[in-house]
Amino acid sequence: MAWRELTWIERFAPSPTGPLHLGHALSALTGFERAKQAGGVFLVRIEDIDQSRCRPKWEAQIFDDLAWLGITWQKPVLRQSTRLTAYHIALQNLWDQGLLYPCSCTRTEIKTVSSEPTTYGPDGLVYPGTCREKPLPEKMPDTALRLKMPAKLQSTIGDIVIARQNMGTSYHLSVVVDDAFQNVTHVTRGEDLRDATPIHTYLQEILGLPTPVYHHHRLILDDNGKRLAKRDDARAISKYRADGASPADIRQMVGL
Ligand code: GLU
Repeated sequence: MAWRELTWIERFAPSPTGPLHLGHALSALTGFERAKQAGGVFLVRIEDIDQSRCRPKWEAQIFDDLAWLGITWQKPVLRQSTRLTAYHIALQNLWDQGLLYPCSCTRTEIKTVSSEPTTYGPDGLVYPGTCREKPLPEKMPDTALRLKMPAKLQSTIGDIVIARQNMGTSYHLSVVVDDAFQNVTHVTRGEDLRDATPIHTYLQEILGLPTPVYHHHRLILDDNGKRLAKRDDARAISKYRADGASPADIRQMVGL
């Protein structure tokens, strides 16, 4: 059979910090079905860089819920906890380009230093740039590091933390490095991550990585019109399963 380039590689990338809820079901089912229709590949990636919050029982539950929903994915599954060297290399690349600086500001310091009213971006408080002009150490330090964002993203996002203290990476860096590593062409995720997309496309630009096609789906809201959170166990797929729901019921609940 002649080799041909896959034009659709899709991933679902949950963090095993809690049960999958209806919003995850919508992301995973949409991504899986888009990839299938396109004759592509569907991947599940375990985003477990924050080891203090990740639990093996949640990971097992994720696989169980996805299989129950009728989703299949390519194995072996990539775990971000095995990819720390790749993140370090990308981080060093950014440091060598002069795009990073260490920051030791606390949240309270960020709030009090800002003369402007505090604004929130996709990553929390927009950083006022306190540590930006401080002299840099010669070597990349093992502390929290911020990324200098371009002017057009300064007021809405600000300089984000790209390496968290004691972690050597962040959600943004890991996700961009891994999407490129896994040749991901299409990403389906919730509307809540739309504001993070400019961070990801900027990182792809400065790291010389391709940008996948992003599709942000509507959020599943609770009865009060609020978006579902991981801790909202009442909306966990496992809870509905325990109450006797079928995969078809879940599809109906998320509007598929
Ligand atoms: N790991 C993230 C989460 O569980 C999703 C990452 C992404 O889709 O970019 O919310």
